[in-house]
Amino acid sequence: MAAELVDSFGRVHRDLRISVTDRCNFRCTYCMPAEGMAWLPRSEVLSFEEIHRIARVLVERYGIESIRLTGGEPTVRAHLPRLIELLAGLGVDLALTTNGATLRLLAHELAGAGLRRINISIDSLRRDRFAEITKRDSLDKVLDGIDAALEAGLAPVKLNVVAMRGVNEDELLDFAAFGREKGVIVRFIEFMPLDAQQAWTNEQVLSYDEIRDRIGAVYPLEPLARTSAPAERFRYLDGKGEIGIIASVTQAFCESCDRVRLTAEGAFRTCLFATQDHDLRALLRNGANDDELAEAVGTAVRGKWAGHQINQVHFIRPSKSMSQIGG
Ligand code: SAM
Ligand code: SF4
Repeated sequence: MAAELVDSFGRVHRDLRISVTDRCNFRCTYCMPAEGMAWLPRSEVLSFEEIHRIARVLVERYGIESIRLTGGEPTVRAHLPRLIELLAGLGVDLALTTNGATLRLLAHELAGAGLRRINISIDSLRRDRFAEITKRDSLDKVLDGIDAALEAGLAPVKLNVVAMRGVNEDELLDFAAFGREKGVIVRFIEFMPLDAQQAWTNEQVLSYDEIRDRIGAVYPLEPLARTSAPAERFRYLDGKGEIGIIASVTQAFCESCDRVRLTAEGAFRTCLFATQDHDLRALLRNGANDDELAEAVGTAVRGKWAGHQINQVHFIRPSKSMSQIGG
């Protein structure tokens, strides 16, 4: 039987997030600068075989149960379905987070390769605003991508909406209506200080309470039992589905965090906001065996901190942006 990946606070980690690339075809203002991103050279990015090996060690040795692929934009990595196929062979709950722009082309192939669940990021339903946020005029493609994901049988389809004051706060109800009509779960995410521009301020965060109250006033809501996932879930009282709110800033869920991360260049991270990386690529490429890899991961997790403390004066912003860590 596998050991547990447990830290010094007793938290057991069962969820692995893997960034497959730091590259992206969008430039969302809250995530990447519009220009001047220096991409990792190819040779520094883990190969599919290297990703699979690390994932296999975590599954076999520590009972990791779910893996989510992210980035950067995972769909810009060539032959992504091949990686999905490899990881699906590990028997884990496999999911993908994407900006959705290429799903019309890819969704069926991804589902055929073994992908089960998908999160699609979309922060505005208005064409101009969408283009302003992402720096790409791609709203139609993303909307079509959502349909393609539904048609491919990926379930559930969830939409990730970063809720930002003064940017898209007037669209909360539009998103709720859209989700109810399409049968997809909309998840509102509090804006986190992980923008490459470092322009984040607390005032821009549309809080969990505001989001719940504004939607609940029009579409009455009832809380649902929480899972290990970070979203607080609510169902519509009229039975037309559910929403999630990820309150990473105002109600940090660090004490129940069960997530670890692997960046595109093979750095193991125990928190999105970690200030320290653990270089698994160097171990792999220097011939480490599975025991040595497992030991490095176990040691990193034992040293995990209690939480990110965004709201404390001593909070240190990570030097990397969300796209480089893997959101
Ligand atoms: N490119 C894919 C996408 O956009 O879904 C995957 C990577 S992206 C970094 C993962 C998620 O992080 C997206 O849902 C995105 O909206 C979210 N995200 C990025 N920067 C964020 C920030 N500063 N605060 C909150 N969420 C953020
Ligand atoms: Fe790209 Fe996703 Fe970041 Fe937008 S949020 S810039 S789509 S990685």
